[in-house]
Amino acid sequence: MTCDEARLLIGADPGAATTALEEHLATCAACARFRDEMRSLDADIRRALERPPDIARPRSGRQPLPWRQWALAASVVLATFAVLGVWIAGRYQEWLPGTHAIVLGIGVALVAPVGDLFESFVKREAHTKDSGGLFGAHGGALDRLDAVLFAVVVGYYIWAAYSH
Ligand SMILES: [Zn+2]
Repeated sequence: MTCDEARLLIGADPGAATTALEEHLATCAACARFRDEMRSLDADIRRALERPPDIARPRSGRQPLPWRQWALAASVVLATFAVLGVWIAGRYQEWLPGTHAIVLGIGVALVAPVGDLFESFVKREAHTKDSGGLFGAHGGALDRLDAVLFAVVVGYYIWAAYSH
């Protein structure tokens, strides 16, 4: 048996053990090492298939947490009251009419991610993951304020444009 034949056989079935193969492996250390590697790889793959990570398991197998539906319902109620509250409050003030508030909201929403991207760019250039250690796992002050960087400026100018 040649090395090519031996490796084809091992590749097809790492568990294979014919007489011709064993004879070759007894004299060829490289092929013997190849079979050891293939067997350990095969074992790893079998182990991974037997115990899939949580994320790969079918959802039906997991029961949703009992409080989740209540939390969702409470969030919807809370958000409804918040929107209603802002709308009612808006009817009793003059300084920020509805359309201006919408433009301000859209402007801030568009520019906030740009601040985030900008800060990521600066950190990438500086080859660092966080801007500091002030907030532990949350990074430094700049990591918490990156979206505000541009949003404050754009928000100010939109507000200023409408206020005269
Ligand atoms: Zn060989």
